[in-house]
Amino acid sequence: MRADRLWMNARIATMAADQPGLGAIEKAAIACKSGVICWIGPMSEVPGALTAAATDDCAGRWITPGLINCHTHLIYSGQQAHAFEMSLSGADDGEIARAGHGPWSIVEATRAATIGQLVFQATRRLDVLIADGVTTVESKSGFGFDLWTEQKQLEAARLLPSRRDITLVATYLAAMVEPPGASGDVAAQTDRVCKEMIPRLAAAGLADSVDVVMGDRTFSAGQTARIFDAAVAAGLPVMLHADQLSHSHGADLAAQYRALSAAHLDYADENGAAALARAGTVAVLLPATSYFNRAQQMPPVKHLRAAGTRLAIAADGSPSAPLLSPLLAMNMAAVLFRLTVEECLLGVTRHAAAALGRAAHIGTLETGKACDLAIWDIERPADLVHRIGPSPLHARIWQGLG
Ligand SMILES: [Zn+2]
Repeated sequence: MRADRLWMNARIATMAADQPGLGAIEKAAIACKSGVICWIGPMSEVPGALTAAATDDCAGRWITPGLINCHTHLIYSGQQAHAFEMSLSGADDGEIARAGHGPWSIVEATRAATIGQLVFQATRRLDVLIADGVTTVESKSGFGFDLWTEQKQLEAARLLPSRRDITLVATYLAAMVEPPGASGDVAAQTDRVCKEMIPRLAAAGLADSVDVVMGDRTFSAGQTARIFDAAVAAGLPVMLHADQLSHSHGADLAAQYRALSAAHLDYADENGAAALARAGTVAVLLPATSYFNRAQQMPPVKHLRAAGTRLAIAADGSPSAPLLSPLLAMNMAAVLFRLTVEECLLGVTRHAAAALGRAAHIGTLETGKACDLAIWDIERPADLVHRIGPSPLHARIWQGLG
């Protein structure tokens, strides 16, 4: 067996489901052929016939799967720092909107931006994720509301892998923000999403999945179900922003449609948690949102855990919660939600892969899976969750490259 590359003398957290805990292997080696893991195990068991074109001595460093950030809003123009500044000085949402700095300003700036500008801005955000060892990222549209802008955002997403070595999953997000002084017509928007946007974006191959922001000010349960029906008809899997600001049975609806993931879930209840587990839908926790909102209501981790729902964690990178570090997201999930180190690491590897429907290819270090690695200067995996500050990333390997 001739590998392209062999990493020796490592400590490896495989995150494999058939091994306990992190699936740790001390004094381990991992070999790559054509971008795929061709051998992994203890160095004492490396086959005598295994040779490699290049060998790296990891000097006892830890290797985890390349991190997967399974929920982001990477592609938009504008920023919300002015709104943040005004809110800290006591302004309310109405005053911020009337001053031109509310969420609608992101829609206007994104509509005005060229694809080149969106790609440039998103690449800068992507570089922050990459510095934390991210090898797969999901990116949502959702700041245009019209076909042209949503298409432009998704085209920009499709261009990112030509700028950086990254696996990118593009999601069309149906969202709604009302223009200042006007009220949006959500029913008419639902029609446009179902009859125009999803069929066209799917036919153009621009979306891998469809997400909906369900809530009091956006789409109702009935409207969300219609959008999900349109996505299913177009052959696309669905995701949901669910139960973020109130208990609206979003988790139940996501489960009913066997959504890949349901995100936020701050107000989901025990029944919703159980429904997600039965459907195999991954719960995506976004602790930066809870942090920025100084949320009193936290996701029902106790119920999700008891039900056996898989938990993923993401840095959402949205204009209002612009965190782009999955390491800090893990720390926040541990501190705010009391997730364990094992739950945190599963949340950015194996369970994040499941949240994107890619579990067969990424998320664990096993023979036959993509050779996406993060190599860390740490003493133990808990360092990745505990520390705040510069990334301890030593090297990042994407499909054997890096
Ligand atoms: Zn989101």
